[in-house]
Amino acid sequence: MDAKKNEILKKLPAMDGLLNQPWVFLYERQLGREMVKGVFSQILSEVRKAVLEDVPVDASLEGVNTKAEAILQRRTTPGLQAVVNATGVVVHTNLGRSCLPQEAVEAVSYVAARYNTLEFNLLEGKRGQRNAHVEWLLCQVTGAEAAIVVNNNAGAVLLCLAALAREKEVIVSRGELVEIGGSFRIPDIMAFSGARLVEVGATNRTHLRDYHRGLSDNTAMVLKVHPSNFKIEGFTAIVDREELSCFAKENGLIFMEDLGSGVLVDLSPWGLVGEPTVRDCIKAGVDLVTFSGDKMLGGPQIGAIVGKKELVDTLRTYPLLRALRVDKMTLAAFEVILRMYLQDRWQEVPTLKMLTLELETLKKRARRLRGMLKRRFPHIIATVVETQDAVGGGAFPTTIIKGYGVALQIPALGSAGSLQALLRNAAMPVVAGASEDCLILHCRTLMEGDESRIVESLSSIGEVGICE
Ligand SMILES: *Cc1c(COP(=O)(O)O)cnc(C)c1O
Repeated sequence: MDAKKNEILKKLPAMDGLLNQPWVFLYERQLGREMVKGVFSQILSEVRKAVLEDVPVDASLEGVNTKAEAILQRRTTPGLQAVVNATGVVVHTNLGRSCLPQEAVEAVSYVAARYNTLEFNLLEGKRGQRNAHVEWLLCQVTGAEAAIVVNNNAGAVLLCLAALAREKEVIVSRGELVEIGGSFRIPDIMAFSGARLVEVGATNRTHLRDYHRGLSDNTAMVLKVHPSNFKIEGFTAIVDREELSCFAKENGLIFMEDLGSGVLVDLSPWGLVGEPTVRDCIKAGVDLVTFSGDKMLGGPQIGAIVGKKELVDTLRTYPLLRALRVDKMTLAAFEVILRMYLQDRWQEVPTLKMLTLELETLKKRARRLRGMLKRRFPHIIATVVETQDAVGGGAFPTTIIKGYGVALQIPALGSAGSLQALLRNAAMPVVAGASEDCLILHCRTLMEGDESRIVESLSSIGEVGICE
């Protein structure tokens, strides 16, 4: 090793000295000495490696401190942070899907901090059922006989298949063997549950005769799956629910549907057509319907299973249920949401409110946002534009809902892509869309107060660049 490298390595700050710097104490209190020490030792070894390999590196005390502080700073900010959703995608899975209304949030904190009736029947003074708090409500808003809830819809499908079709066959149309968001695939869930998948028909067309051909002595179920995030168009055929229901009855099979999003109300007046409500499915003769609580329903993450009492009763005692059960905070929020549907106040649920916003309202909001931006940053280029918003969460995959937003250009801060990145990393992160060379702030998904948050975030990243 040459003398120069040796000299640099010898001058590297020592661990004790690093740890005893006053600014480090603040982090030590929040993260513990071991964590802070680990960060410094990682940095020191990277610096040593760079020196030995002749890679340019700042080996000074300031250099090491700067690197360490950046890492320690990140570690002290909460990982799960609130963001502004300016993407126009209402049920945005990566951004937490549905936002709860205030009354649901209050119910969550109320039961979270106190002992409660989660599994306690006050009238009888003995053990109660956690499911009972929401079962009657689910029945009321869907028209089903019985209901049960689990951790999420994937869990709901798994539980049904395992409890009702284990070691038996389940017929599914080839057009419905879908994958949702990378990790949920019908064939995989099926294999995991111990049920045997019998594929029938073709990708684009499945007829009743195909279902007949799929029958065997060991068939337990016909499963219909919502194709979620894609749509087959052109030369297509599917068997409708009524026909499938008759087919299932004639052959003594269970007819189950994984509905995915689970709409409880008719949204066709707002241009959202073609999705059946859960009630429609029950009416059409589906024995068990499963759906998510946090997609278009607008509630917390939950998987709901509604349908025939006899089948739901089987699920209640199946051991896997214990591994999928819902906690008290989720139940508290879900109960509130279902009551809002019961009282016909569903438009106050944020997800539904966003989906049913009038175009005029959105246009006004976009104008207001543009006004706020222009007042604070007179030199930016900001225009009110029509936007293409989306439901998200695998519902209405091909429906583009028209909306309004503000297109932003700030040449001093670079391309739309770099502006997106800067806003994402602001103290109050803003996730926005982009179109060509403009950043697009979609107004549909903004929550109360988000306009000022956007203004604040913009000013934090580039007051200089914006006000040149
Ligand atoms: C979203 C979806 C699921 C998974 O639901 P989670 O609540 O995310 O577990 C399953 N099936 C379909 C058809 C879906 O759209």
